Amino acid sequence: MTFSQQLITWYRNNKRDLPCRRTKDPYFIWLSEIIMQQTRIEQGTPYYERFVDAYPTVKHLASADEQEVLKLWQGLGYYSRARNLHGTAQEIMTGYGGIFPDTHADILRLKGVGDYTAAAIASICFDQPHAVMDGNVMRFLSRLYGIAESIDRPETKKTIRAIAEKNIDHRNPGDFNQAMMEFGATVCTPANPGCLNCLFQRQCIAFKNNTVGRIPARNSKTAVRHRFLHYLVITVTERGTEFICLNKRTGSDIWKNMYDFPCLERTLDKTLLRLPAQEFDELLNSATPEFGEVSNPFIHILTHQKLHARFYRIHYDKKIDLPCLLVPVKDIHNYPVPKLIDRYLSKIFF
Ligand code: SF4
Repeated sequence: MTFSQQLITWYRNNKRDLPCRRTKDPYFIWLSEIIMQQTRIEQGTPYYERFVDAYPTVKHLASADEQEVLKLWQGLGYYSRARNLHGTAQEIMTGYGGIFPDTHADILRLKGVGDYTAAAIASICFDQPHAVMDGNVMRFLSRLYGIAESIDRPETKKTIRAIAEKNIDHRNPGDFNQAMMEFGATVCTPANPGCLNCLFQRQCIAFKNNTVGRIPARNSKTAVRHRFLHYLVITVTERGTEFICLNKRTGSDIWKNMYDFPCLERTLDKTLLRLPAQEFDELLNSATPEFGEVSNPFIHILTHQKLHARFYRIHYDKKIDLPCLLVPVKDIHNYPVPKLIDRYLSKIFF
């Protein structure tokens, strides 16, 4: 049996039963691939199911409100993917008559679709032999072939891609690609790979050379940026209804079009000291506020950032002119918020 036959046989006998594996509809495969990027399958699957329920066709997704899409995405991070998902659904409606493109080249032209996603859709849905390259595939192949150079180097990626392209099964490219990813995710794992029972143990060069723990090699990590955020959580009671003050983020950062609170950012504040109330005057355009509860620091880790945040509560008994959007507290669930804000809200209101 060839390598690809062995791998596909293993896959058919051992694959996890996932909802996205019960279809070859390119719309659903596209949804699942975008959702699962940078996300563990266990975490991404409930999101996939929610999206399929809410938007059973590309037309439903295209005509949804962006805020609703972001809300459904909340907690997955990398929010540009949700915005691209929505924009691309609209592009498929207007540019392709609502029919998902069926060639690798056309799929690759869609916004937010890179090499990996295009290869996955083209192979799984249309049997086109384009090899996928993700972290799981690179780890598995670099160990199997004993490639010790850093996988961050373009030359190394090129070498690994050539190996994958050479081995892809032209009759079952979709199963081959999924098998590669599944093997990397469940057997040839980053820590404690299942070498002792691995069906490729005898041909695995890293295993033979006792270098499994050192492969794949990576360049030194990008420095983590620490950010110190002081959020004002302003509530207002007006005619018996409690409102909360939200800030819609309009810049082009990762949280674009989501909601948080008015915020002051400080750079050199390693201990995240409480700020004195006067510091917030510039945000409020008003008299110095009187704080209610001030939270302990919340730590939130992003890919290259570590956020340190405090939340300062202020309450007013009547509406005043505030530089933010006042929404009833009971409606706050309707607004997409970054996970850091959601963590705080779930502590104080729910
Ligand atoms: S022997 Fe170990 S390192 Fe080699 S392919 Fe199998 S699980 Fe991966």
